[in-house]
Amino acid sequence: MPSWFGRTRSAEPAPSRSKLRVGIPRVLNVWSTHQFWVGLFGALGVDPRNLVFSADTSEEQGRQFGKGRGTVDCCYPVKCATGHYGELIFGQREKLDVLFSPMIYTLPSFLSGHVARTLTCPRVMAAPENIKAGFLKEREVFADQGIHYATPFVSLDEPKLVPKQLFEGLREAVPGLTMEETARAVDAAYRALRDFNDRLRKKSREVLEWCAREERACLLVLARPYHMDPGIGHEIEVDLQAYGYPILWAQYFPIDDDLMQWAFGPDLAAGAIRSPFDIRDVWPSSYSSNTNEILWGAKVAARVPWIACVVRMSSYECGMDQPTYTPVQQIVERSGTLFFSFQDLDSTKPAGSVKIRVETITHYLERYAADIVARKKATMPPGCPLLSAGASAAPSETSPRSDCAGKAGARTTPERAR
Ligand code: SF4
Repeated sequence: MPSWFGRTRSAEPAPSRSKLRVGIPRVLNVWSTHQFWVGLFGALGVDPRNLVFSADTSEEQGRQFGKGRGTVDCCYPVKCATGHYGELIFGQREKLDVLFSPMIYTLPSFLSGHVARTLTCPRVMAAPENIKAGFLKEREVFADQGIHYATPFVSLDEPKLVPKQLFEGLREAVPGLTMEETARAVDAAYRALRDFNDRLRKKSREVLEWCAREERACLLVLARPYHMDPGIGHEIEVDLQAYGYPILWAQYFPIDDDLMQWAFGPDLAAGAIRSPFDIRDVWPSSYSSNTNEILWGAKVAARVPWIACVVRMSSYECGMDQPTYTPVQQIVERSGTLFFSFQDLDSTKPAGSVKIRVETITHYLERYAADIVARKKATMPPGCPLLSAGASAAPSETSPRSDCAGKAGARTTPERAR
């Protein structure tokens, strides 16, 4: 076992550490890893009140803080990061000491070990370098503002590499940092991320059990983590939830063994897959982590009767999503599940068309959801563990967004000096 798993006595952080103000742009894969960073900086002695996440993406944010600093990337989730950087640099009442934007190379996916790789999209991985360029083109903005820009390359799905990568990337930003301390903090960070994910999966399971018991339909969202950002996903799933349909996200679907063995038992018995998390039957080139989870989500939606509808979201010009449109749709529709896709999402919420689409979806659900659930139940394997669960209260809020960084100790940019 690597030494960083060991529980050695933690050293007192240097006094200045607790005063260190660290800003993290709330962009891209930070949406699925924020608890790792909250756990890491907490373990390094940074006061949670001094860990500042930028606000959700908005046009106003881009206009006020990102104008004139755009870079060449044509993909909106990357492009809008400029506004987040600008907000953290120019929009704080109290100046930050560090702007931390990790170059995440691999993700700690629940599919890890069952798929070829868990790589991030290259545009996402390179974004911190790309966006930085917009703040250096005329003047050295970071240096002018006295902000240390830390952008460590980090392979989050290879935990043995992470302490060294983060130590190298943070040693100049965090006073008195040692390799041993970084290793302990990384250990705490993985624990924090695991606890958060477990908590959301538990909530999702409660929702599914409630749907099974009450014969109610729910919806599954298949999208990238940053589509949880209201400025990128435009809260389409929130509009649907307002009609009373519980919403689940594939990233936080329950993965308990009883449920997985039940859902994928026939495929395992037929030898089509080697584990419930194996997607080789539908997506052999399983290199991209978020893509893999979308494909897996389509499979799970096809197998769980109470998921009556899948809502797919993707951003304008997304080269990673493009090849997945057909397979995802086919997997879902062949099971008799409703499928609706919102593609080419960009900066502006197409409010009118979203409203019409949402009304269309709810119309189909009102009309067909009960039949869809009944048909899927008729062909499901016996012994569904969702049906044997005890009573629980009706689900309230199920969106992962409601439990994200802003409510987990760290703080969203609260007061912008506008
Ligand atoms: S996955 Fe798609 S939307 Fe996301 S950064 Fe890559 S190309 Fe852009």
